[in-house]
Amino acid sequence: MRRALAITLALFGLVLFLAFIRYGTPAPAPEDAPRDRFSAMRAAAVQENLVGDGATRFVGTPGNARGRAVIVAELKELGWTVETQTTRSCTYHGTCAPVANVVAHLPGREPALPGVLLTAHYDSVPVSPGASDDGLGVATLLETARALVAGPRPRRTVVAVFTDGEEAGLLGADAFVREHPLAGKVRMTVNVDSRGSHGPSQMFETSRGNAWLVAFVAERVERPVTTSLFYEVYRRMPNDTDFSVTKTIASGVNFANTAGIEHYHTPLDTVALSDVGTLQHHGDNVLAMARALADSELAPTASEAQGDAVWFDVFALGVVRWPERWSLLLALVGLSLVVGHTIRARAWDRGLAVFLASFVPGALTAVVVGLALRACGAFPALWIAHPRAALSAIHWSAAATALGVALGLARRASPRSLWAGTWIAWGALGVLAAWLAPGASYLFVVPTLVAAIAASLPFAIACVAPAVAAATLVLALAVGLYEALGFAVAPLAALPTLLLATTLAPMLPDAPPALRRLPVAFAITAVGSAILALAVPKFTAEVPQRANVVFRQDDDRARVFVDTTWGPSTWGSAPAPMLDAIGGPVGEDAALPWTLPSVFAEVPRLDVKAPSVEALAVDDAGGRHHVRARLRSQRGADTLAIVLPGGRHVEVKVEGRFAVPRAVPGGSLVGLFAVPPEGVVIELDAPSTGPIAFTLVDRSFGVPDGTKAAAAVAARPAAATPFQDGDVTVMTTPHSL
Ligand SMILES: [Zn+2]
Repeated sequence: MRRALAITLALFGLVLFLAFIRYGTPAPAPEDAPRDRFSAMRAAAVQENLVGDGATRFVGTPGNARGRAVIVAELKELGWTVETQTTRSCTYHGTCAPVANVVAHLPGREPALPGVLLTAHYDSVPVSPGASDDGLGVATLLETARALVAGPRPRRTVVAVFTDGEEAGLLGADAFVREHPLAGKVRMTVNVDSRGSHGPSQMFETSRGNAWLVAFVAERVERPVTTSLFYEVYRRMPNDTDFSVTKTIASGVNFANTAGIEHYHTPLDTVALSDVGTLQHHGDNVLAMARALADSELAPTASEAQGDAVWFDVFALGVVRWPERWSLLLALVGLSLVVGHTIRARAWDRGLAVFLASFVPGALTAVVVGLALRACGAFPALWIAHPRAALSAIHWSAAATALGVALGLARRASPRSLWAGTWIAWGALGVLAAWLAPGASYLFVVPTLVAAIAASLPFAIACVAPAVAAATLVLALAVGLYEALGFAVAPLAALPTLLLATTLAPMLPDAPPALRRLPVAFAITAVGSAILALAVPKFTAEVPQRANVVFRQDDDRARVFVDTTWGPSTWGSAPAPMLDAIGGPVGEDAALPWTLPSVFAEVPRLDVKAPSVEALAVDDAGGRHHVRARLRSQRGADTLAIVLPGGRHVEVKVEGRFAVPRAVPGGSLVGLFAVPPEGVVIELDAPSTGPIAFTLVDRSFGVPDGTKAAAAVAARPAAATPFQDGDVTVMTTPHSL
């Protein structure tokens, strides 16, 4: 058994090596690659052209118009039919803006068939050049458009939509789906977006009834990086892309790269930092899927009846898949076979106890060490500059506990009972997963089935084979785990090792004496890593902290905030030089109605007018209250927001369109972007009488010169960066109409 253990550990190493190699990105195809192939070098030139001098492409900005012109010119040169769809859009994200989508199409050989929709967004967040997000997607679609023209004409019409206003609330995609005639002619779709500057292109989301789509990915995509687990996880997160909108009219798949999130939605999202290998991978995936769907015989509605699949790639070489409804059956078969084998071998003993006694204390150690490191400030943000020390401390402390306990207990159990304990536990986890989260079930079902089959072979093989199967599946996820989730669930850093450690249990009883010293070595490594984790700088110029300055003036006061909150998480406490610049914080409050509380200092009010409301009609009759009003910034700010207090139902229309207010702390909000100087007309309608109260907010980019806000901006250290909307000036005033 010593040989079996050595072979297993060597194979674990090989699997990890393969995972690192295979979950990189493909080599970019050169500029002179065949025209019907995807060349990242050609696409990179388009990406550079799109980004230009790096000005934001946020909805309504000059950079947005410039980026759009680049896309239109490229498509015209390729011979696609191009138009710009300009309209006003309001979505359930509580935002409204005028948007301009670039809509192009290439008629298929059988134009009467339902077509294929390709989407990527060309806008960026206000503070970012958007080279990766979603310059990668735009460059991917444009090079795909070139390859589709150069290759054999697709059977179905292909429609490429470069959406506007994605970052402002999926506005462009919504406008296309709602209003554009071509939206009614597409039934299949591919979206490509980016949540970082590098990493493989992962197929992380599909529409419902995905068995036929996964089959296409398996058959046509050369380097598939995808598992149904991504989809299980993503479904439970609040994130959105244009695909959330387009999948309501078409079936399809969504690709994104998730590594390099330190650059995402910051000024660091530049061409220089955007990986051309990622571009090649996106391109290979999107072109393959576009061709597969455009040439398909399938009627998607019939195919959807086949239901969902459970799937996973093996080292990005191919995709294993089965219908989701088989999962529970497969899990039960695996578990029953292992139990049956255990009964025949009379291997009850205390194997299951060893599994629980090693895995559970190991997992608890990971939780405790993770919480302690967080409390000590080892990772003040989800992603930091030097994460390895903290991850290593969590990982090795858990491994030390698990191995220590397992070695102690394994001496008193027979190898066959340890085998039984391990694989009965894995089998039970498979049944549980198949029942609760089928997309994750393959992780446990496949190794259990391998164990069940190998059980009748020599015992050494019965031990090694399922352990290696488990490593192949688990380590594929471990490679990208930190990039994907950061420190959101810190103890996860130990999970892959803890799971794999359980598969070694049957080989432990006659482990060499050297192995018995390993837990101590692990523990020492963990302590050293923990000390290092506390000592290393948390942020650097390459992986900066996120810190915006907000100058906010209400009717009775003015404040300067240093805001390090991003969505539901906080990116460390405000940098000391910025706090010094505002004269130290005096309190904590939400800088904007939609952000978490951050620190502020009181400052003198400026002589600037608050945004104005001009009532055009007020009607309080028949149990309803209806208001028409023109909202305007009196200082040229082009973003407005209406914040409605909670507790009263109010319907909002902007320039005649319904906008669904988005819930924010203490009420709900409608944001209006790219507002012209003459303002916008809104309607408020409540199913009860009495004036409607709201707070009107205007917002402009940048902070006023000569104020403490400007001093805070100047004091921002090199290891911090503005992010998302960047530094802003906000004026608020309450109204009642
Ligand atoms: Zn994006």
